[in-house]
Amino acid sequence: MFYICQMANQEDVFKKVISHAKEYGYVFQSSEIYDGLSAVYDYGQNGAELKKNIREYWWQAMTQLHDNIVGIDAAIFMHPTTWKASGHVDAFNDPLIDNKDSKKRYRADVLVEDYVAKIEAKIDKEVSKAAKRFGADFDKEQFVATNGRVLGYQEKIDTILKRLGKSLENEDLADVKALIEELEIACPLSGSKNWTDVKQFNLMFGTKLGASADSAMDLYLRPETAQGIFVNFLNVQKTGRMKLPFGIAQTGKAFRNEIVARQFIFRMREFEQMEMQYFIKPGTQKEWYDAWKEKRLNWHLSLGMGQDNYRFHDHEKLAHYADAACDIEFKFPFGFKELEGIHSRTDFDLSSHEKYSGKKLQYFDPEENKSYVPYVLETSIGLDRMFLAVFSNSLQEEELDNGSTRTVLKLPAVLAPTKAAVLPLLKRDGLPELAQKLVDELKWDFKVAYDEKDAVGRRYRRQDANGTPFCITVDHQSLEDNTVTIRHRDSMEQERVPMDQVKGIISKAVDIRYWLQKI
Ligand code: ATP
Repeated sequence: MFYICQMANQEDVFKKVISHAKEYGYVFQSSEIYDGLSAVYDYGQNGAELKKNIREYWWQAMTQLHDNIVGIDAAIFMHPTTWKASGHVDAFNDPLIDNKDSKKRYRADVLVEDYVAKIEAKIDKEVSKAAKRFGADFDKEQFVATNGRVLGYQEKIDTILKRLGKSLENEDLADVKALIEELEIACPLSGSKNWTDVKQFNLMFGTKLGASADSAMDLYLRPETAQGIFVNFLNVQKTGRMKLPFGIAQTGKAFRNEIVARQFIFRMREFEQMEMQYFIKPGTQKEWYDAWKEKRLNWHLSLGMGQDNYRFHDHEKLAHYADAACDIEFKFPFGFKELEGIHSRTDFDLSSHEKYSGKKLQYFDPEENKSYVPYVLETSIGLDRMFLAVFSNSLQEEELDNGSTRTVLKLPAVLAPTKAAVLPLLKRDGLPELAQKLVDELKWDFKVAYDEKDAVGRRYRRQDANGTPFCITVDHQSLEDNTVTIRHRDSMEQERVPMDQVKGIISKAVDIRYWLQKI
């Protein structure tokens, strides 16, 4: 028997996740030899496999199991007008200011708004004082409209907000800074009033296309993959002769110049998304929203990582394009956080691209004998966040009967980078040759490892920590009767089986079919 050790606290668990990811070749800090690049990470030899397997699990669930969902691979560079139409050029802008002493960065408008909130709190205080004084006769509206002190506060608020609004509208960032200084706003962390200039900050990364400075065109690295799908909507619909409802799926890199970039691969500046846009008849969005919420949750649950680790979070404040939206949250080592978004996007994107491009992006409905802009239901999940969910959930410390502990990465077998390790018990007597023969046979179907170094117990531990679901040991008996021992990672149970059954046993455990059938 064994049980899972309780690690001291969430922070320790998270630290352990990060160090294990590095130690076993899953995730490295980018450009580490140059002290790294903040919020950018590289996937190592095992990480690249795990990531590929998660991507494949999603891709197959979307495109292979639905005959009306097809996949595309759009470019990262897109015509700059795309981002005007999507709203990213205008809506992804934040005015930022740094405090020179604390080195903390703030949104300048938020600093001013927080200051205003403090004045509002003073008004509230006056109101509740008066309410107490006047009792049942208190008329709040009249008091607010006539009380000298309240009027003074309100006038101050109006003046500040009017000025802030005007300077932001005119992009007069020097005046935003002047306002912060006049109001004597201090850094909430250090109390210092030593501010830098205010700079406009767009979350999109800009770059240039073209050789000469005059003719170069300003481009953005895409901040989401979705727009590559929207602009190809008609290409796919026409060439694939798709009928509503149908979906277009895509996986690929997205880039955001995140201000608060921390929490390892949870929030990165370069990350990968797996998005699917489902084009539907207007009016059916509620039905499809519910259906995709259920489908996506079931996809997560099929991996067996525990129902209690997921919850839905409905958005109250909706984005400008959405008429309903929710997140699937996962219990990360630092608490429940967004893993995937499900958004009912109406016809916002296609209509906006119609407007900006001057091209029709409509569907001819043969049943209704008319054309219209379809509505869109979107599912959007971060591949790196999914990686972190799977990795952190799988990492466990177990205390064994003999008092020792083992670190085991209980990755769902379908996702594990290496499916089996073949281990000759000794480095002689023809055992390595027989083991190698088995590797050569299995490698056509699975990624397998060969390991002959150290005592077999240590090799088991190494494979446990690596997440390998099976260890196959070749010993002297194998030479005589062609049987081997299979050790199961999670239960540590061992069974003796004929060598020609090994492939079938691994297959059953790792075949995507057995996992996705649960959906
Ligand atoms: P958040 O609120 O965490 O910033 P978001 O609501 O901006 O996320 P979306 O624009 O809906 O995220 O993107 C869809 C998915 O892409 C998210 O659910 C998340 O899994 C992933 N994602 C978004 N931003 C990042 C990032 N900076 N690093 C890694 N994954 C990300």
